[in-house]
Amino acid sequence: MAFELPKLSYSYSALEPHIDARTMEIHHTKHHAAYTNNLNAAVQGTNVSNKRIEEIMAVVSKLPVAIRNNGGGYYNHNLYWEILTPGGANAPHGVLLDAINDSFGSVDSFKEAFVKAAVTRFGSGWAWLIQKENKLVVSSTPNQDNPLMDVAEVQGTPILGIDVWEHAYYLNYQNRRPDYVEAFWNLINWDEVARRFKG
Ligand code: MN
Repeated sequence: MAFELPKLSYSYSALEPHIDARTMEIHHTKHHAAYTNNLNAAVQGTNVSNKRIEEIMAVVSKLPVAIRNNGGGYYNHNLYWEILTPGGANAPHGVLLDAINDSFGSVDSFKEAFVKAAVTRFGSGWAWLIQKENKLVVSSTPNQDNPLMDVAEVQGTPILGIDVWEHAYYLNYQNRRPDYVEAFWNLINWDEVARRFKG
């Protein structure tokens, strides 16, 4: 049983002009593919080789660092592709909207916190919207860590995440990470984020 690189449900050019086709293609076929292949190699012969990725994340502190890095890379990109869409609900709705209002006061305040987490994460990493019981929390992680990991400073179930590694935006945005984060806002698949939220 090997981990597989998922197919995207949209074309590489579908997210233009916000994310360009070349970035998408390299990100999927090179970066995500490498994390997937390296994860398969890293779990071989270990006692987690038949575990689900979520189960592996939960005990990652006890495993080789290659599983932490590549397992995180595998999981995080699976989520990233799914919470992006060229079209769909353009704002949170339903019980997710209620939870955002309860936890942050307003969608604008949530957005401000999320953008700040994404822009201020030093170096490579991710910013997250996390469910912790009935509360929503914004956090960020370094490298390919994520909130499912037992090593994460803030743990919970990620329902939205943005990749702020330079490989996610550099071809189009160069050093302008804030512009990429703002553009990302136009691409969020709020139906998928709502699906991941357990209200
Ligand atoms: Mn990436």
